[in-house]
Amino acid sequence: MQLAGAATANEIGAAFTFGALEGVITAVFARVDEIHTDPHSGFDLAFPEGTPFPCLAAGTVVLVGVDGQDNWGRIFGNSCIIDHGDGTRANYGHFRDALALQVGDTVALGQIIGIQGSTGFSTGDHVHISLAKSDNPWFSKDVDGGVSRLLDPVEFLGGDARQ
Ligand SMILES: [Zn+2]
Repeated sequence: MQLAGAATANEIGAAFTFGALEGVITAVFARVDEIHTDPHSGFDLAFPEGTPFPCLAAGTVVLVGVDGQDNWGRIFGNSCIIDHGDGTRANYGHFRDALALQVGDTVALGQIIGIQGSTGFSTGDHVHISLAKSDNPWFSKDVDGGVSRLLDPVEFLGGDARQ
């Protein structure tokens, strides 16, 4: 698995780039901080308000989360899980608006998923990204499945962001 984009470091404050898109890492994987009292299930990226955010790897939509709809929606807000077809899946969360995606849709590398937002358990505009093996129970909407079994998305960055 490779995710498109690059980070200058796996640290809060490091720069993230995807083509011309530039953002800042605001939370890192598996870390506890003042906002995340449980180990963080992915990494967070912040961009200017209203930034459209692209899918970092092609795949198929297997879940569309709706802000506030259930436990998943209360945490990740407007969100989606994309199966990359190689045994891994990614979750993208907190988008501003309900996503124009449906389960079964294919998503291309670089395709805009939604506008960065702050829906769900969020204190400000950002995009949350989790990565895991496809059979991880965490991706069966069991958010207590165990962060220890998730992958650190930043370690999988470096893929070609050209579309
Ligand atoms: Zn997060």
